Amino acid sequence: MNPKDFQLNINSIFPSSLWTSGNQEIVYQDIKRYTYREFYDRVRRFANGLVNLGVKPGDKVAVLDWDTYHYLESYYAVPMIGAVLHTVNIRYPPEIIFYTMNHAGDKFVIIRDEFLPMVEKAATLFDFVKGWIVYSDTDEEIKTTLNPYYNYEHIVESSEPIDPPDIDEKTIATLFYTSGTTGLPKGVTFSHRKLILHAQGLAMSISYSPLNITEKDVFLGLVPMFHVHSWGVPYLAIMTGKKYVLPGRYDVKKILEMIKNEHVTFSHMVPSILYMILTYHEIEQYAKYLNGWKVIIGGAALPKGLAKMAKSFGITTVGAYGMSETCPLLTAALFTDDMQNLPEEEKFDYMISTGKPAKLVNLRIVDSNYKDVPWDNKTIGEIIVRAPWLTDEYYKDPEKTEELWKDGWLHTGDLAVVDSGGYIHIVDREKDAVKSGGEFIPSLILENIISEIPEVGEVAVIGRPDPKWGERPIAFITLKSKTTKEKIMDELFKFVDTGRIQKWWIPDDIIFIDSMPKTSTGKIDKKDLRTKL
Ligand code: AMP
Repeated sequence: MNPKDFQLNINSIFPSSLWTSGNQEIVYQDIKRYTYREFYDRVRRFANGLVNLGVKPGDKVAVLDWDTYHYLESYYAVPMIGAVLHTVNIRYPPEIIFYTMNHAGDKFVIIRDEFLPMVEKAATLFDFVKGWIVYSDTDEEIKTTLNPYYNYEHIVESSEPIDPPDIDEKTIATLFYTSGTTGLPKGVTFSHRKLILHAQGLAMSISYSPLNITEKDVFLGLVPMFHVHSWGVPYLAIMTGKKYVLPGRYDVKKILEMIKNEHVTFSHMVPSILYMILTYHEIEQYAKYLNGWKVIIGGAALPKGLAKMAKSFGITTVGAYGMSETCPLLTAALFTDDMQNLPEEEKFDYMISTGKPAKLVNLRIVDSNYKDVPWDNKTIGEIIVRAPWLTDEYYKDPEKTEELWKDGWLHTGDLAVVDSGGYIHIVDREKDAVKSGGEFIPSLILENIISEIPEVGEVAVIGRPDPKWGERPIAFITLKSKTTKEKIMDELFKFVDTGRIQKWWIPDDIIFIDSMPKTSTGKIDKKDLRTKL
């Protein structure tokens, strides 16, 4: 390869990052703490060990783990040698885990001891796997019936650090499967170039935000590493030299302890994780450590009620939007200078909105004839995008790929309006939209408003078939404190009086439930709620 033709690959992250931040720390719970230099050394040894085991460029190498330092090393070591990192969604049921691994054709599997029994039970099915690489948090010897198996730590100890090879930036680096809320999960792939440009886009976008991220910030990600590369933060963090804290399996008490002990200042997550943290029974004990915490919320709309709860702890929340197919960053609720002088309440509403296109993202909201909707805060269109980091395809699925990339635009299936300031507000997903009397009821706006009622914990609005109107909205609600349906209805009528919602949007019924069903990626599972109607 011509050195003048610089390749944007994962290996290109290290020279500058080690120079500026070689002594920066990576921390995994209270189990491991090491510097970027030590991390890089282990990554190169592990990468060499993989080559010696027979991993070839293009081979799929799966990982089954929570968010650990072994996972982070695999994020770099596997693509480093031109192989493809398959981040397996361990929250899927076992048969779907098998489906995705079989579909991917994983040659090697890097697996934490905790997941061995699940795989051992069905070992004969995994005849496409040529080797299992196992590890544990303890020093105890790992026992498994899987064959052949290798010990991760032995590989690292016994291998020389590899000289990272030149990897063409168009080489596929990662593969993972969508959450599969409708039908079987679909695979999406990302090249080295896309991952690097995405990390840069993310860094640029954050610098436009009111979050004021600097080199002193300490990151603790709470989007699983199996889902959309934890939104690219494992690449962003190392590229920008941040102290990076890895939480392992999510456990609220441990997360709060890490926030306290490691002085965490920045995290990203879906709304339900923030809700889980802020409603933890011992939260008051940690309240002072949350003051000043900067949190990006995406993956689902950030309900205003939750954002206000966070604000009462001194937490700044900012909304962002994207999807598995888009790496994921598409928009973030970022500020331009002209927003700074707005009244506090208005500023707050913008900060929790879907925001504006991230840098380099060409985003349009269009009707069915590709005509852009006016910025009037009421005309609904579909979000379609082009950007440097979108997936090229659904893996081995040309038909679905064609639907996704119809007419040269990636179709998100998300419906949105734009206000006069250019801020986007997602009102629904095409497949979740509630259509009543031929008109859309924007369920996300309705949920947002219901979330502001102080007794409401989490809320989801879905459409129930109705003989007269086609569909009518129903609200599922969990409660933080006691109230009645009638009181909630009264509150909703007040929102009608102040013009925030229309009368015919008011749900036909409110169903109280003890807890919201969640998808494998921690979002509210509307498919499951439909079965409860
Ligand atoms: P996934 O691919 O599982 O991460 O889901 C992506 C979908 O989540 C998008 O297509 C949206 O429907 C939804 N989503 C993500 N971020 C937001 C957001 N900020 N507001 C509303 N919906 C969102």
